[in-house]
Amino acid sequence: MKRIPTITEMKAACRQVTRRGQTLGFVPTMGALHEGHLSLVRASKARCNVTAVSIFVNPLQFGPTEDLDKYPRMLERDAAMLEELGVELLFMPSVEEMYPEDQTGPLSTKSKGQGGTPKQRDETYVLVEGLSGKLDGASRPGHFRGVATVVTKLFEIVRPDYAFFGQKDAAQVAVLRKMVRDLNMDVEIVVCPIVREKDGLAMSSRNLYLTPEQRRQALVLQRALMRVQSAADRGERDAAKLIEIGRQVIAEEPGARLDYFAIVDPDTLDSVAEITRGALVAVAAYFGTTRLIDNILLTAT
Ligand code: AMP
Repeated sequence: MKRIPTITEMKAACRQVTRRGQTLGFVPTMGALHEGHLSLVRASKARCNVTAVSIFVNPLQFGPTEDLDKYPRMLERDAAMLEELGVELLFMPSVEEMYPEDQTGPLSTKSKGQGGTPKQRDETYVLVEGLSGKLDGASRPGHFRGVATVVTKLFEIVRPDYAFFGQKDAAQVAVLRKMVRDLNMDVEIVVCPIVREKDGLAMSSRNLYLTPEQRRQALVLQRALMRVQSAADRGERDAAKLIEIGRQVIAEEPGARLDYFAIVDPDTLDSVAEITRGALVAVAAYFGTTRLIDNILLTAT
């Protein structure tokens, strides 16, 4: 596995792959890898001749009061895991390499934006309007602009044939799919299922922040989603009633502070009144200061 810290070298290595006529799969991550990330790598290995992974904690997608500074960084361990899986290219740029002109300013601690809106600067961003303000985008102003911008940069550096993302971040999937479609990007987005711990908690790098008590409390997310799924299986179609069922389960866990509980169309992220097969049930809640998300796609017809 080649470890590549610069954009120039990464572009050269990726172009070499495509010039050879091989397919290139790409898995963007922020590191602190777990089985969820590794499932994306395995999907890429199964589908593509060569797999590139990036590890980059993107400052542009963190709000001023979020966990950018304490986000877990364990590059050596991550690299060993990827090497073991047979990843060919690991891109691990510094912040200065990705944002030499301090494009990170607006969302970082320097932000002076009003009402959570990032301050205007002479910089280039990619914004999927509308979608970027829904679900996690509503709670994390500027987050999806940061995601869309960094993913666009990474896509331009790597120019993958396929890019692999987790259903865990369902709103992110909606934003990136729309971005790829609207900007005619030459990449196919592949979405992989949520990987869970044995007890059902969706794997997340942020689970590392949880105390044992919070770790136990966090199981309420999966419990609420399952309760909604069973009600839907029993024939409940009214999204408002299903949301109420989910919210009540969350309310039974005093350690959880609900951010949102929503039932939406997975592409538009707009609320649906009546559920159909494939409706996205998404939840976000805080356990202490740690914000966790989870979701299911309803299987009922
Ligand atoms: P992150 O490092 O958190 O930015 O995540 C990188 C990629 O891994 C994203 O596409 C996530 O959706 C995906 N991912 C994170 N957790 C999981 C999980 N539990 N199951 C499947 N994919 C995941």
